[in-house]
Amino acid sequence: MTARLAVLGNPIVHSRSPEIHGLFGEQAGIELSYERILVPDGEFAAVAGEFFARPEAVGVNVTVPCKADAWRLAGVTSDNAEKAQAVNTLWRQADGTLSGHNTDGAGLVADLINHLGWQLQDRRILVLGAGGAVRGVMANLLAQQPAKLHLWNRTRSRAEALVSAFGDKAEALPADQLETAYDLVINGTSASLSEQQIALPASIIGDGSCCYDMVYSAETTLFNRWCLAQARCRVADGLGMLVEQAAVAFEIWFGVRPETRPVLAHLRKTL
Ligand code: NAP
Repeated sequence: MTARLAVLGNPIVHSRSPEIHGLFGEQAGIELSYERILVPDGEFAAVAGEFFARPEAVGVNVTVPCKADAWRLAGVTSDNAEKAQAVNTLWRQADGTLSGHNTDGAGLVADLINHLGWQLQDRRILVLGAGGAVRGVMANLLAQQPAKLHLWNRTRSRAEALVSAFGDKAEALPADQLETAYDLVINGTSASLSEQQIALPASIIGDGSCCYDMVYSAETTLFNRWCLAQARCRVADGLGMLVEQAAVAFEIWFGVRPETRPVLAHLRKTL
């Protein structure tokens, strides 16, 4: 029987997930179909319910703005999803229960360490943003035991609310209290998507800083261009995170961890 998968969100037309999971399926010898399903405002539960009513439905990926709805819909949730209060992967277990997972953090850390060779342990890390993506990666970043993890967000109250969920391991700071030359700066805002410059002191970037934009594009993203203008730093975009979070989802659905390097190389060529 062909396994049915889908990505649910709004907008959804540009999602690369069908291609990524198609390549994973070929690798693993698993016959699958993968659709993009647009979710009208407020209709996530109905759309997901209709999808999972099909006997061949195995799981879905969930993207903006439906991750919190997916968290509420899941019958059981992983620790990560619970901390993030956001689910990007739903899987129908053998007993019919929908289990909810958040694979964004595992995907980010796998890209940083395995593909880019950027270590996190004992490093000074600054994370920008306090939306769903940042909420989803905090636990995985902290598990790598950085020396410190600072969080900055344009709306400071959201950064403070977010760090409060993680005890005293992370600190929300205003722009004028940020340190200089962080080892790693992760942009988890959507500013690059709308080509908006983030208002931040240039001193956060130093020679040797590693700068990561969760947004990805064929051209160097606006945030990464800004970083490169400040110092001799290294930059990467979020394409590797996208492929790695998908690999974790595929393993949840089928128990097989796909090889990500050829898929990432293919996507990069065709961006
Ligand atoms: P979200 O929940 O809508 O949050 C957006 C965040 O961006 C908020 O913190 C917002 O700050 C901030 N922001 C927006 N415009 C800004 C600007 N001009 N200056 C400063 N801050 C700005 O979105 P999300 O789900 O967290 O996603 C964030 C980004 O991560 C998106 O671009 C998404 O595509 C990307 N992402 C990538 C992957 C991947 O696999 N590569 C996975 C997940 C997400 P305020 O709180 O002040 O509004």
